[in-house]
Amino acid sequence: MTGEAADEDDPDLVPISALQHHLFCPRQCALIHVERTWAESALTAEGRLAHAAVHAPKAERRQNARVSTGMPLCSRALGLAGVADVVELRTTPAGLVPFPVEHKLGRPKEHRADEVQLCAQALCLEEMLGVPVRRGAIFYGRIRRRHEVAFDAALRDLTRRTASEVRAMLAAGRTPPAEYRKERCDTCSLLDLCRPKALQCRRPVGPWLARLVEDDGCDAT
Ligand code: SF4
Repeated sequence: MTGEAADEDDPDLVPISALQHHLFCPRQCALIHVERTWAESALTAEGRLAHAAVHAPKAERRQNARVSTGMPLCSRALGLAGVADVVELRTTPAGLVPFPVEHKLGRPKEHRADEVQLCAQALCLEEMLGVPVRRGAIFYGRIRRRHEVAFDAALRDLTRRTASEVRAMLAAGRTPPAEYRKERCDTCSLLDLCRPKALQCRRPVGPWLARLVEDDGCDAT
């Protein structure tokens, strides 16, 4: 899912994708959504093309569900907007139950960024349709399998908290400093623009100047 469907004229709405970026790295989120920086990598290009395929808005019937792709989403309560890759509207004895499905190229990860992104879609659907959305799934391309996600209280809390942190960061318009962490930075499409190793090596020049003056036999004060 991408955030392009966020109403860019509405400053109260932020793209759902920003939540995923923020949990991966707050600086990445700010570089993309505050500074409007973007770098295409082979992986992001592959992801963009895959999403373009599932984002074309259409609806069709499959077994006991109506399947919508490219559905615009919005939550005024959370200040979020985006587009759902796929929403299955399943027919059950209790009525129509929405079941969002997010497509990802990779595989399940240790962090919860993908689940938070999906849960944000569920919260939007609940607000838009007025029905509970208890489960969804992430389809991971590398393993070609669906990973089911339950929208429990802990995941809902994390999603609401992340939405509020992202809104505060975007409102402040501040980009957090770079901090190199191998496991995330080496997979980040913004690595060359962010330069975390170079930026976090910057030291205050005061001690260096004081040493220089001492070596010259002067009093630094
Ligand atoms: S390179 Fe690292 S610190 Fe910089 S935006 Fe990416 S993940 Fe964050």
